[in-house]
Amino acid sequence: MEGETKPKLIVQKFGGTSVADTERIKNVARRISETKRKGHHVVVVISALGDTTDRLIELAHRITPRPREREMDMLLATGEQISVALLSMAMHELGHEAISFTGAQVGIVTDSAHTKAKILDVKVGRILEELEKGSVVIVAGFQGVTLDDQITTLGRGGSDTTAVALAAALGADVCEIYTDVEGVFTADPRLVPEARKLESISYEEMLELAATGAKVLQLRSVEFARNYGVVIHVRSSFSEEEGTWIYDGEERMEKAIISGVTHDIGEAKVTIFDVPDRPGVAAALFQALAAENINVDMIIQNVSEEQKTAISFTVSKEDLRKAEEITRAVARRLGAGEVTVDEDIAKVSLVGAGMRTHPGVAADMFSALAENGINIEMISTSTIKISCVIRAEDVKKAVRAIHKKFGLDKGVVMRA
Ligand code: ASP
Ligand code: MG
Repeated sequence: MEGETKPKLIVQKFGGTSVADTERIKNVARRISETKRKGHHVVVVISALGDTTDRLIELAHRITPRPREREMDMLLATGEQISVALLSMAMHELGHEAISFTGAQVGIVTDSAHTKAKILDVKVGRILEELEKGSVVIVAGFQGVTLDDQITTLGRGGSDTTAVALAAALGADVCEIYTDVEGVFTADPRLVPEARKLESISYEEMLELAATGAKVLQLRSVEFARNYGVVIHVRSSFSEEEGTWIYDGEERMEKAIISGVTHDIGEAKVTIFDVPDRPGVAAALFQALAAENINVDMIIQNVSEEQKTAISFTVSKEDLRKAEEITRAVARRLGAGEVTVDEDIAKVSLVGAGMRTHPGVAADMFSALAENGINIEMISTSTIKISCVIRAEDVKKAVRAIHKKFGLDKGVVMRA
């Protein structure tokens, strides 16, 4: 062991781009090796190589437009099995003891909601045994197993959740998420070159950022981290720079009113017209969607004219086909009118804990959009977030305008 460093238990997660090819896998192995040489215990979680998951989904769709979800999980789980084995070999090449496991092998137990399963329990016995022997333990992200031995996956980006769940179960000192960006930014730097990296951010702000389109972490991983107090450090796998720390605590230096602007082009809007305006109608529709595990994001109901109303809601494009089918069936049952689908929407959101105590934030956001001739189609708010649905073609302009309006390019505004 070197110098003063106390041995820690560190979970390190590397995303698909960090292990896109064999050179990068070797690079990841070197990074892990550095941590290991400092005397720390390391548990590694990795994603499938590059865009493997996308390619597997494409393969399935070449066979059938509606693959059964159980088989989808059998297929998708193979991606991560490839990467853990290769990374383990790369560790051996560097002279380290390492062992790879699938989610099922280490006992990541989930419910049976195929393709978006939730982790119920993590059995750490096997991992602890291997750590005790001095091995680096490499776990396949994004997957688990049900109590009756069905392979499941945790939804796109699910390796983050695997990593945080393992960190929580093992009581790790930190969960490092290595990715292809430097950390969490005030906006997507591809849209807003002036966007800045945040040094630290609270769980609740990160939750809202992830929920509204920040791609850097899977939403459920942040929920997990908050519930179990797991400290996350999001950083680049291509540099040594510190990234963004996610945790709660008074010592957090950066307390901005606004933490960032996010956008999401992954949702679509479904509208059901001429719905009879009586109790139970919304319940019938949204219960039917919930029963099929479809997450509804924004909802608006129009003013009633002649006892009829229109309801619009947004869902992820991945769920659109299913949501449309269900909505049409419910519309027939209720004697409602036409059902339409609009995929050309985008959602822009502003997130910041300071909104609670600073009135006028919503008004400023709406005027930033108005000044740029951008029409708002739907609005939703929480105590620390405002989201607007706009036309997809306006998204870049909207994010830039809002980012500028709140001076996010110029540095953080300290809370009074
Ligand atoms: N390989 C999976 C995906 O692409 C899981 C992950 O990357 O976290 O969604
Ligand atoms: Mg991936």
